[in-house]
Amino acid sequence: MKPARLTAAGQSPALVWFRLDLRLTDNPALVAAVQHGGPVIPVFIHAPDEEAPWASGGASNWWLHQSLDSLAASLRGLGSQLILRRGPTLATLQALVNETGATAVFWNRRYEPAVIARDTAVKEALRRDGVAVESFNAALLHEPWTIQNQSGKPFRVFTPFWKHCLQQAAPPVPLPAPCKLNAPERWPKGLALAALELEPKINWAAGLKRAWFPGEAAAHAQLKRFLQAAHANYGDQRNRPDLTGTSRLSPHLHFGEISPRQIWYTIASEVGGRNPSSKADRLRPSAATGDWRASQFLTEVGWREFAHHLLYHFPQTPALPLRQDFNRFPWRKDAALLAAWQQGGTGYPIVDSGMRELWTTGWMHNRVRMIVASFLVKDLLLSWTEGARWFWDTLADADLAQNTLGWQWTAGCGADAAPYFRVFNPISQGEKFDPRGDYVRRWCPELAKLPDQWLHRPGQAPPEILARASLVLGRDYPEPIVSHAIAREVALEAFASLKGR
Ligand SMILES: Cc1cc2nc3c(=O)[nH]c(=O)nc-3n(C[C@H](O)[C@H](O)[C@H](O)COP(=O)(O)OP(=O)(O)OC[C@H]3O[C@@H](n4cnc5c(N)ncnc54)[C@H](O)[C@@H]3O)c2cc1C
Repeated sequence: MKPARLTAAGQSPALVWFRLDLRLTDNPALVAAVQHGGPVIPVFIHAPDEEAPWASGGASNWWLHQSLDSLAASLRGLGSQLILRRGPTLATLQALVNETGATAVFWNRRYEPAVIARDTAVKEALRRDGVAVESFNAALLHEPWTIQNQSGKPFRVFTPFWKHCLQQAAPPVPLPAPCKLNAPERWPKGLALAALELEPKINWAAGLKRAWFPGEAAAHAQLKRFLQAAHANYGDQRNRPDLTGTSRLSPHLHFGEISPRQIWYTIASEVGGRNPSSKADRLRPSAATGDWRASQFLTEVGWREFAHHLLYHFPQTPALPLRQDFNRFPWRKDAALLAAWQQGGTGYPIVDSGMRELWTTGWMHNRVRMIVASFLVKDLLLSWTEGARWFWDTLADADLAQNTLGWQWTAGCGADAAPYFRVFNPISQGEKFDPRGDYVRRWCPELAKLPDQWLHRPGQAPPEILARASLVLGRDYPEPIVSHAIAREVALEAFASLKGR
C-alpha cells in the first residue's frame, strides 16, 4: 500500500501514535513528528483485545479516560487535535496512513510482552507498506537491553542493578513541548472520547474522582507539591500510610504524564542544591551535584526501572514464578477467603483498611500493599496470581512490570524477593506503621472508638473494651478469618514441603 497524497518529503503528514506517554513534554515521538517537517496527526487507538490477558482494568480505564481528555485539551492549545479510534491497531494505522497521506509513524516504546509482539508486527507491516517508522524510549531511564551484569546477563538483584544504572551516562535531558503543531489540510475522522467506553457505566468511580487529578499538568504539580512538602522526610515517612509521605506519582508515571527523566532532572536541580548549569554537569550529575542520586526517592524510581528490566528479560513472569521451584507450591483455592480479602473483611484492620482504600481510590500505600499481599499468600495460602489479578482490576496505577515484581517479591518467588519464611504479622505491622491508628480509623470507621492499644487487634480485645466501643465482632466488624499464629506455621510447613520435594 502506498500513501495517497502529499508524498513530498518534509511536507507529508506524520502520525504520532500516543500510548502510555500521554504528555507533550519530553515526548521524543512527538518531537520526531514535528521534525519530520509536515503536519502532525496525533492518534490514540483503543485496542484492549491486543493486550489480553492484561487489558486494563476498571480503575485504570477511568484514569485513561481523564488523561486522554487532558491530553486532547493540551493538543488543542497547540492548534492540534487528538484523533481517537478503536483497534485493531495495524488496520487502523494503515487506514489513517491512507486517509491522510502520512509517510511516517512515530511512537514511544512499551515493554509488556504482548505489546512488544504487537508493535513489532505493526512496525514490520508499515515498513513493508513504505511508511517510515521509528520508536523511542520515553518511559525508562535506561533501555532494559542496555543494562547487563558482568556475565552479559540481566540483573536479578536490585542493588547491583541500580548501582550499575547509576554508573551509566545520565539519561538524556528532557525535551521541551513543541510550541505549535502543524495541522493537516483536513483532519481524519475520530471518535468521541465517550465512545471508547472507558468510564464505568455504574458510578463506582466517585472515590477516584475525589482522590485524583489525572493529566500532565497535575503530574508536575504533584511532583512540585511532594518536593516542597514531603521529600525531605521521605526516608523516615515513606512507610507510614497514615501520613502523606510519598509522592503518589505512580498512576501519572504509568500513563506517562510525567517521565522518569523529568523526575531525575528535577531532583538533580532541586535536591542537588543547584541547577546543573553546564552541559558537563548535566551529563555527569553525580560529580557535579553531590549525592542526590542516592536519594531514597530516586531509588524507588530505580525499583520501577528494575521492574521493567525484569519484565523485559523474563516475559513469562506475569503468570509464572521466576523461581521455578514455586511452580509446585501447594496454593489453596478458596473463593470465600479470596472474597473476604478483596472486600476488606478479614478481621485484620490494616489489611481491611488497605483493601478498602484500594477499592475506593484505586491506590494503596506501598507498605500496605506489602502487608495485604503477604496476608493473601502466607496467611490465606492463596496464589499471588489471584492477588495480582485483583490489583490489576482495581489499581489506577496497575502496571504489569511493577505489579508482577511486587507480587512475586512478596510471595518469595521473584527476583531479589523477600524470603518466604519472612511472614509479616498484620497486627505488629499495623501498630508499627499506623501507630496512632489514623489510617485504620479512616478506612474502618466502625473501629474508630477502640482505644489505640486494641485498634489493630480487635479480635483480642476484652469484651468490656468492645462494649465500650459499641462494637460487636461478627456483626459490626469480622472476627479474624484465620489465626495469624496458626496460619504462619501452616505457611512455613507448605514452604518446607516445597524444599523437601
Ligand atoms: C504487591 C504490590 C503490587 C504493586 N503493584 C504496583 C503497580 O501495579 N503499579 C505501580 O506503579 N506500583 C506498584 N507497586 C509498587 C508501589 O507500591 C507503588 O509504586 C507505590 O505505592 C506508588 O506510590 P507513590 O507513587 O506514592 O510511590 P513513591 O514512594 O513516591 O515512589 C515514587 C515512584 O517509584 C516507583 N516505586 C515506588 N515503590 C516501588 C516499588 N516497590 N516497586 C516498583 N516501583 C516502585 C513508583 O513508580 C512510584 O510512583 C506494587 C507493590 C506491591 C508490594
